[in-house]
Amino acid sequence: MPQQASTQVQRMSRLTVRTLRDDPADADSPGHRLLVRAGYVRRSSAGMWSWLPLGKRVLDNVARVVREEMDAIGGQEVLLPALVPAETYEATGRAGEYGDLLFRLTDRKGARYVLGPTHEEVFTHLVKDQVTSYRDLPVILYQVQTKYRDEARPRAGVLRGREFLMKDAYSFDTGDDGLDEAYRLHREAYLRIFRRLGLDVRVVSAVSGAMGGSRSEEFLAPAAAGEDTFAACAGCGYAANTEAVAFTAKVPAADAPGPLREIDTPGTATVAELCERHGVPASAVLKNVLVTVDGEITAVGVPGDREVDLGKLAEHLAPAVVSLVTAEDFAARPDLVRGYIGPQGLAVRYLADPRVAPGTAWVTGANHAGRHAWDVVCGRDFEVDRYLDVAVVEPGDPCPRCGAGLALDRAIEVGHIFRLGRKYTDAFRLDVLGPDGKPVRVTMGSYGIGVSRAVGALAEQTADARGLCWPAEVAPADVHVVAAGKGGPLALAEEAAEALAAAGLRVLLDDRALSPGVKFADADLIGVPRHLVAGRRAAERVLELKDRATGERQDLAFAEAVARLTGGTAG
Ligand code: ATP
Ligand code: MG
Repeated sequence: MPQQASTQVQRMSRLTVRTLRDDPADADSPGHRLLVRAGYVRRSSAGMWSWLPLGKRVLDNVARVVREEMDAIGGQEVLLPALVPAETYEATGRAGEYGDLLFRLTDRKGARYVLGPTHEEVFTHLVKDQVTSYRDLPVILYQVQTKYRDEARPRAGVLRGREFLMKDAYSFDTGDDGLDEAYRLHREAYLRIFRRLGLDVRVVSAVSGAMGGSRSEEFLAPAAAGEDTFAACAGCGYAANTEAVAFTAKVPAADAPGPLREIDTPGTATVAELCERHGVPASAVLKNVLVTVDGEITAVGVPGDREVDLGKLAEHLAPAVVSLVTAEDFAARPDLVRGYIGPQGLAVRYLADPRVAPGTAWVTGANHAGRHAWDVVCGRDFEVDRYLDVAVVEPGDPCPRCGAGLALDRAIEVGHIFRLGRKYTDAFRLDVLGPDGKPVRVTMGSYGIGVSRAVGALAEQTADARGLCWPAEVAPADVHVVAAGKGGPLALAEEAAEALAAAGLRVLLDDRALSPGVKFADADLIGVPRHLVAGRRAAERVLELKDRATGERQDLAFAEAVARLTGGTAG
């Protein structure tokens, strides 16, 4: 990051930052705690974050890297309104798909608006207005813009905000080859972006969700604070969000099952109770979970040792709204016996995991309180209306590609790229004139990066016990100069800071009238990659250079210290 022009020294005595000794009570992840404690962000209201000077610098650095790499693949930066007429999202059906996630408002004339959660529709409109011929394509447009989503559970600070900064890009092409090329360009640009940011990411197959389109991949940053789980196969390199892992293994039919028989099993409303009292393995039990799908009660069958992944279920059934049944739902349906439900003779729609394959035999509820049925055979005693991959993926499950055992890890989704195809261009009839003078329907891709989320993800991945620890490219300064004492140390620190700034480095100078111990702790907390301390040996013009990440320190003469720091970053 060569920076020729001399920059201003940022004095901490003039900086709006108040570090906290103690963890904020409401912080729910390590990175979030540190971003608040080190004075990078402050909560404004639920899911809304203010970026203080240090935080704004990091946010801008992330955005700068994103812009540079988007420009390098031919992206053109634009800025569209965040406030969008509601009918724009209604035209594609997304207003319904996003539902309560949309912030809606009405203007003084009663016109309805949405604060954009993502901008496929708006960009399609724009391009329809700007582009007429195949010669005008391909086009990649992008913006770095504030997005709004009324998240049900904003959490972990900037990782999931209700207002957040996103880079959203859109590609427009006349044919599938063009789309493939635009997709490839973005995929490579994203890998370069995350490498430069110092963020460790995995590219995984994903489900496209409300965005639509055929194939999509996510960029996941492994971290315990992440809300996504991804599966990786050490054998063949397969990697996918667990939401996108399909169960493909063959399930053998039961070997000569006997006739269905019912047994009294009082006090066994849970799988655990049934297994314990009747010596059945949980994997032999068919568990039936009741949900409502757009208000209609539906049963979902999974093996007793698995949970239903409600997120996956909702994804499969979107735009229908899926909820768990309530006590009132049960009260209205005496035929549904809580804890003793079986699919045989059940008067509701029955969805099942592929493990509940035709010919498999199960122990399941007998639809009478305190009673279960044995040898309940799929296809003989009950039918499955629809198979859906709804079971939570477990470590060791078979890789859909090679069958080896999958490993699972938590991660933060920092980017998502979609081959959208023609969902939006069909909705708005975006055509250009082809070489033969006939209209061609345009095909589209969309490519998002959570810019503010990336700052949170970096904090999660790089922080240590002492505080934040930024990679050089995103750090709020290149060097943190600490005056460990008044008089001589302060004068030397100021001189060093000026020399470094004159060479183009971004310098944070701790010139505050505080004890050296407090300043060292703050420097570690703030996490600039290199610290330069003027203290004990200031009279000899000797400074201590410290590497924040490794803790390595070295005493250096003034000129040597300046040369080391400026040489290290120039070119
Ligand atoms: P998630 O599954 O985490 O809710 P998403 O799949 O809905 O995210 P996209 O629609 O793909 O997100 O948005 C593009 C990018 O914007 C995401 O990859 C993520 O980095 C970022 N992003 C999405 N929602 C938020 C949010 N609430 N706060 C911060 N960043 C977000
Ligand atoms: Mg996504």
